[in-house]
Amino acid sequence: MTSLSMPLHDLTVAELAAGLKAKTFSATEVARHFLTRAQDDMSATAQAQGADKTFGTGSFLALNPEATLAQAKAADTRLAAGTGGALEGVPLGHKDIFVTQAFPTTAGSKMLEGYRSPFDATVVRKLAEAGMVTVGKLNCDEFAMGSANENSAYGAVKNPWDATRVPGGSSGGSASAIAARLVPAATGTDTGGSIRQPASFCGITGIKPTYGRASRYGMIAYASSLDQAGPMARTAEDCALLLSAMCGPDPDRDSTSVDVPAEDFTASLNGSIDGLRVGIPKEFFGEGLHADVRAAVDVALAELKKLGAKLVPISLPRTELSIPVYYIIAPAEASSNLSRFDGVKFGHRAKDFTDLESMYKKSRAEGFGAEVKRRIMTGTYVLSHGYYDAYYLQAQKIRRMIADDFQNAFKDCDVIAGPVAPSVAWKLGENAHDPVADYLADIFTLPASLAGLPGMSVPAGFAMPSMQGSGSGSAKPLPVGLQLIGNYFKEAQLLNVAHRLQQATDFHLRKPEGV
Ligand code: GLN
Repeated sequence: MTSLSMPLHDLTVAELAAGLKAKTFSATEVARHFLTRAQDDMSATAQAQGADKTFGTGSFLALNPEATLAQAKAADTRLAAGTGGALEGVPLGHKDIFVTQAFPTTAGSKMLEGYRSPFDATVVRKLAEAGMVTVGKLNCDEFAMGSANENSAYGAVKNPWDATRVPGGSSGGSASAIAARLVPAATGTDTGGSIRQPASFCGITGIKPTYGRASRYGMIAYASSLDQAGPMARTAEDCALLLSAMCGPDPDRDSTSVDVPAEDFTASLNGSIDGLRVGIPKEFFGEGLHADVRAAVDVALAELKKLGAKLVPISLPRTELSIPVYYIIAPAEASSNLSRFDGVKFGHRAKDFTDLESMYKKSRAEGFGAEVKRRIMTGTYVLSHGYYDAYYLQAQKIRRMIADDFQNAFKDCDVIAGPVAPSVAWKLGENAHDPVADYLADIFTLPASLAGLPGMSVPAGFAMPSMQGSGSGSAKPLPVGLQLIGNYFKEAQLLNVAHRLQQATDFHLRKPEGV
């Protein structure tokens, strides 16, 4: 059992919520503690620019201590009156893709430098209504496009397990900040793996719910038919607590939010998984999977077996096709969504221009980074006359088949399990000239995204990077995530399986050195 005499940053969301309710500490004390850690990390990051030695994660993009402390004070008032929400006074960070009134929002882009939203995203509002206190905004890949957080216009984020490595992306700041104990929880978004893959690389837990579960209102759009918000934290129980507060229909603001009432996802934790059929897709265990990652995943699967689960071989035959399909559909939607950044309505406007067209062109050329431009060009191409049928339409058809493959598989199993990514975190800069290498690493997360299914990442152990040729010289073991995929609206079941696994293992309790 964890004791409340531990440093505040070692407590889980559940423990912090309990301690706050019991008045063991106040929301203001907790907020100050995490603010100090975040500020220290920010200054260490600033000092370390150029020199790799000092360790700052680079995960925070913006703090507003006055706003944070005002929220904490209001939480203390409610705690004193006994009117607090389920997560009253518990701090969190928000991925900088969610718009916030109290903090600037950049989406990791120069395009939105200094942008202040006049409203809070629905997810931000709901978590605040549950009592959560915002510590700050967290770094991410520009417009959530990336798998390593290296596409942020505000600098790369480091992996707390090895500062020479990426934290994963695009919610890299969220994952890194949680692993470094700068926040106990954070929001993330997942379009093709951006919650699950950084959670896996940083040894934390994260869940992407069913598409439509959480409102996309105020979440800066990347690929609208895929984008989904979800929580990231150290334990499945904490994810369940946050997810319960985040979900629910938002019919006036997001027409794709589904009309399914919010659930208490903690209610079914501790359920037995005796007899649970866990589908093991053979396509997730093929050649591309690094042997040591596989070994860690196998250990986690053996744990599930010990808990009574039955491992059932299944097939998701179009797994490989999910890469070209996703990298057609997502850029297509992005090219349309990002057309709003034209120098007129939002964000950056170039200084020297001669006419309206040159203003559009210059503003977009200056405001967007290389990867975002690449996606806009790809997206425009696949949607253009003469190519639409060959690329976009074809991709939509295969997307449907990928979703059907899952429904076929769920005839034989209750949940699906496999690796989150083929490898552990790679070296910063390793894929700098090879964007396709990043795309290929998304292979195991893309299928569930295309199908709109819930998926999560749970710490499953550690693997040595030096054995797999992804950079040498580092002897530090790096986290491996087990991916769990459920059928639509089966988040409670996924969280339960993850919770049971975490009761039987201690991977999620391990801490990076020096944290
Ligand atoms: N790596 C994928 C991409 O770049 C997924 C990103 C995400 O889920 N936001 O599109």
